[in-house]
Amino acid sequence: MAEIRLVNLRKAFDDFVAVRDTTLTIHEGEFFALLGPSGCGKTTTLRMIAGLEMPTSGRIELDGRDVTSVRAAKRDIAFVFQMFALYPHLRVKDNIAYPLRSQGIPASERKERIDEVARVLRIEHLLKRRISSLAGGDRQRVALARGMVRRPRAFLMDEPLGTLDAEMRSAMREELRGLHDRIGATSVYVTHDQIEAMSMADRIAVMSKGDVLQAAPPMELYLNPASLFVAGFVGSPAMNFIEIEGPLAPGATSAQAALPGAPELPVPALPEGASGQKLVLGIRPEHLKVGADEPISGTVFATEYLGSHRLVVIETPAGRLRARVAKGLALKIGDRIGVGVDPAWAILFDADTGLALNRT
Ligand code: ADP
Ligand code: MG
Repeated sequence: MAEIRLVNLRKAFDDFVAVRDTTLTIHEGEFFALLGPSGCGKTTTLRMIAGLEMPTSGRIELDGRDVTSVRAAKRDIAFVFQMFALYPHLRVKDNIAYPLRSQGIPASERKERIDEVARVLRIEHLLKRRISSLAGGDRQRVALARGMVRRPRAFLMDEPLGTLDAEMRSAMREELRGLHDRIGATSVYVTHDQIEAMSMADRIAVMSKGDVLQAAPPMELYLNPASLFVAGFVGSPAMNFIEIEGPLAPGATSAQAALPGAPELPVPALPEGASGQKLVLGIRPEHLKVGADEPISGTVFATEYLGSHRLVVIETPAGRLRARVAKGLALKIGDRIGVGVDPAWAILFDADTGLALNRT
């Protein structure tokens, strides 16, 4: 199993930069996600790791060895495509055997290896079926089996659950993560779905327009986002953003929201030297306080039952705020209610650069 290192990795198509000077280390055995909106450069990054795309500059190391100009077939990395090209008319076991046959591995060893991956993936009962008779989730597992049977040093997966329906996606998330843990492979997983990345990955690199904005474990992205983009992209329901007039005096613990008639809000004190003309205060729905005595008055706009909790959308002079409240709290549309910000959980962003100013 391998450590994958990207050093100043760049890919330009003519004068369009798809991946900009990315430096990242993906640790051995890690489940690592590349997360970002469509077109941000995830697939291009993955294809460079696989050896299917030549970087414009920078390099790729596998276990410390520079493989930038090593051919894809020699990198020992399995690439699981969204629409993995299985042979529909062949039986499952012949599909899995395919890469072993082309490597000239003898029949007895082929059988041993196929049985092994079938056991790990729990598809032993499907080995004699034809691909065309399988449901989507089973096909996905066969596709993984075909990737795994070569015993690759790493797995690359590009939106592998993209074509499945919601229920199957959720089951396959657990399945894939469980599988990763059983085989201990280094996995790089590309997705635009933050729930997928947050629920599966040990660490996530959030990408936007060719840049990696932050690479961190899910909880850190959630609680300590480095920028407005990361804060807004990760977490559901989404973070609340309230515009604030700057500059803030050093040590100030309250500020004026930038809307007419908006109240003073408690804010976290900025570190020495940090400021901005315009600021944005970010606060997660579970860190808003809701109650008659809270300072920002508003009107309940909508409520949504989330099972263990309730989400309340409140129209206030500081904008429309989403708060997570106990499900027993009696609130209905049109009710007047107060909202408060817990400054201990708030993050101040510079509205111009988008960067968080008070990260811990
Ligand atoms: P993602 O997987 O995050 O959706 P991609 O890595 O596929 O994004 O693409 C990133 C950007 O690079 C996109 O704007 C895409 O149009 C562009 N791009 C990708 N491959 C090529 C190519 N072969 N030629 C020109 N532009 C490309
Ligand atoms: Mg893609």
